[in-house]
Amino acid sequence: MSIIAQRMSSIKPSPTMAVTAKAAELKAQGIDVIGLGAGEPDFDTPDHIKEAGKAAIDAGKTKYTPTNGIPELRKAVVDKFQRENGLAYDMNQVHIGVGGKQVLFNAIMATVNPGDEVIIPAPYWVSYPDMVLIAEGTPVFVECTEEEEFKLSPEKLEAAITDNTKWLILNSPSNPTGAAYTAGDLQAVADVLLRHPHVWVMTDDMYEHLVYDGFEFKTLAQVEPRLFGRILTINGVSKAFAMTGWRMGYACGPLNLIKAMNNIQSQSASHTSSMTQAACVEALNGPMDFLAERNAVYKERRDLVVGMLGQAEGLNCLTPKGAFYVYPSIAGCIGKTSKGGRKIETDSDFVTALLEEEAVASVQGEAFGLSPHFRISYATSTDALIEACTRIQRFCSNLS
Ligand code: PLP
Repeated sequence: MSIIAQRMSSIKPSPTMAVTAKAAELKAQGIDVIGLGAGEPDFDTPDHIKEAGKAAIDAGKTKYTPTNGIPELRKAVVDKFQRENGLAYDMNQVHIGVGGKQVLFNAIMATVNPGDEVIIPAPYWVSYPDMVLIAEGTPVFVECTEEEEFKLSPEKLEAAITDNTKWLILNSPSNPTGAAYTAGDLQAVADVLLRHPHVWVMTDDMYEHLVYDGFEFKTLAQVEPRLFGRILTINGVSKAFAMTGWRMGYACGPLNLIKAMNNIQSQSASHTSSMTQAACVEALNGPMDFLAERNAVYKERRDLVVGMLGQAEGLNCLTPKGAFYVYPSIAGCIGKTSKGGRKIETDSDFVTALLEEEAVASVQGEAFGLSPHFRISYATSTDALIEACTRIQRFCSNLS
């Protein structure tokens, strides 16, 4: 009998982490690889936040904290939701986790029974399906195409709901496409959900603050207050505050759900680190002016990448409103052969050939559940992006 549990048979390691590891391996061989695979800001954590973390260590805040976080942090989360989203939660409706990833994991483990269905619009963030599988639930994918701007239509949502549907996971702005739902888009989704009172919603708002062209971010609970009692609103500091390594994410929702999530955490991670919590109080309460500056840089990079990829033969690239990803279609490259003699039949063939022949690391659309596409993260220096896009253009023009 295997030592490994049966439930692990359908779980894969994160494909985005695998690309990063492959790029690092080529770099170690002396190859000048440009990594556009990782979903991580190249900016540093702002100084005032770092200082708060250091001060917490010096002040001896180095011990266990409550599982659901120090009261100052829960208060900062309640205030954030009120101030920025017009949502009123109590302090005991706050869950603090070890990154947004663990918040989602806790929510799924606390609620999904074997056989429960979780609707996941595709393309999706790579971890959602595997988390549902670990909980022995059934991911139900709904394809949202380039023509639909990668957003879930009310018709497709309606068709995907069954008696076994427990959750819909909604991520805006999206990883991997950068697609962002307007208030109107959200209302259309909400109208369907109002007709199906057994369906709950996790909104993953991790990229809330990374929006461009004056896009106004809204979250579902704010757009449709009648759904408030069955929404878990999830957010975090990793992306906007460039705090990926600190590991803090948070969520607010109905008390019984939050209590169950806290119970899981009390029996696993206990809580995120005490100094991280202190730094996050400063992140949420402190100045946010650095964001406008950084977003101007992201927007410039987005425009650069969309422009250059638009000139690459066989690619089609939408201009996303948020996050720091683009998700070009490679439909025009399928069936061709690369300069190095590799046949491009799938997006995995495309990214493998691109990495081996032009040393650009990206992630195949297959990993996100919608092909034929690939994902590029533009959270890297402008010089690196120009060089990478030049290589992609050359790669595409060499296809025959
Ligand atoms: N949700 C989305 C859509 C993401 O892209 C990520 C990170 O890549 C996360 C959640 C998790 O973020 P973290 O665990 O770093 O807070």
